[in-house]
Amino acid sequence: MEDFDRSGGLAAKAMERMLSERLPPTPENFTLWYIYFSGRNPDLTRAIDLARRDGLTTSQTLCDELYKRFFTLDAEAQAIRETSDKARYALGRILEQLGNVGSETERYGNALSGFRDELDQPLSLPELRAMIAAIAVETKEIVDRQTALQLQLQESSQQLAEMRVSLDSARREAMTDGLTGIANRKAFDLMLVEAMDEATRESLPLSLLMLDIDHFKAFNDTHGHLVGDHVLKLVARMLTECIKGRDTAVRYGGEEFAIILPRTSLENATKVAEQVRAFVGGRQIVNKARNANYGTVALSIGVAQFHPGEPSTTLVRRADHALYSAKRGGRNRVAVGD
Ligand code: GH3
Ligand code: MG
Ligand code: MG
Repeated sequence: MEDFDRSGGLAAKAMERMLSERLPPTPENFTLWYIYFSGRNPDLTRAIDLARRDGLTTSQTLCDELYKRFFTLDAEAQAIRETSDKARYALGRILEQLGNVGSETERYGNALSGFRDELDQPLSLPELRAMIAAIAVETKEIVDRQTALQLQLQESSQQLAEMRVSLDSARREAMTDGLTGIANRKAFDLMLVEAMDEATRESLPLSLLMLDIDHFKAFNDTHGHLVGDHVLKLVARMLTECIKGRDTAVRYGGEEFAIILPRTSLENATKVAEQVRAFVGGRQIVNKARNANYGTVALSIGVAQFHPGEPSTTLVRRADHALYSAKRGGRNRVAVGD
């Protein structure tokens, strides 16, 4: 009875919250808020509380993101699960086919040795003829089976090749930010560590830029979320246009981006940051179809150079600190970390 009361209470709270935040009471939103109030998933609770602190809760986009993060497998995990099921089935079939052929081959071998034993006896012409015909039948049967096996194996190997392609594309998808199409946070974590390894191995410099759009909340509030999304795509494209070669631009999350600059000293990284800031800040954001001009957006950028031996979290934290001092210093500027 208590359980009934408790879950009823949680359900009521979830409904209430969706109404007060003007979120549609979909099954996904309900699940999200029910689990939030139950406290059953501390990571989810923390993520929502942090977003609330930043004044983010009302967005359906955020709920979708959280639902995806906490209640569904990402594209890669899903593809891995599906593909392992398929691979298990395909391997099972191959093994079965090989097993069948094994017993067929054994049967064929037995038949042949039976014929050989018969040949040790004197045989009449019709008997010999009958025997040769029988050997031909047995042989044809095994050739047919081998041919069928070959076709089936070809089919299985084709299926395995397709599975590899779908795993590769799921992996690519898992590393790509859905909105902007550039690398996402997951890719960033991997690429940064790779770049750090290379820098250490080859004693080369490596720098990191953390970038954050200034007053983006106000921009969204003024022009709406869709225009905001358009700006994120545009900024992502401009960042990509500003860099070259081994450099990588990623969407770190929300309206934050990062640029990994391998083989780049702090001094040169600062120059790149300044170019990026000027390039993005100088672009008028327009919607020609609507004949609208939304002005410009500015970026604050923090720069840090990798200190060999430090963990990636420390490098990111130093670049982040620099970013925050750019914010404190008045925004629309570049600040260099220690
Ligand atoms: P600051 O100059 O200090 O960075 O101010 P800010 O308003 O940019 O920063 P704040 O962290 O307060 O708000 C970030 C805003 O970014 C809030 C949210 O509306 C917006 N935002 C985050 N992700 C998205 C998104 O995917 N699409 C849109 N349109 N807006 C987003
Ligand atoms: Mg911002
Ligand atoms: Mg931010």
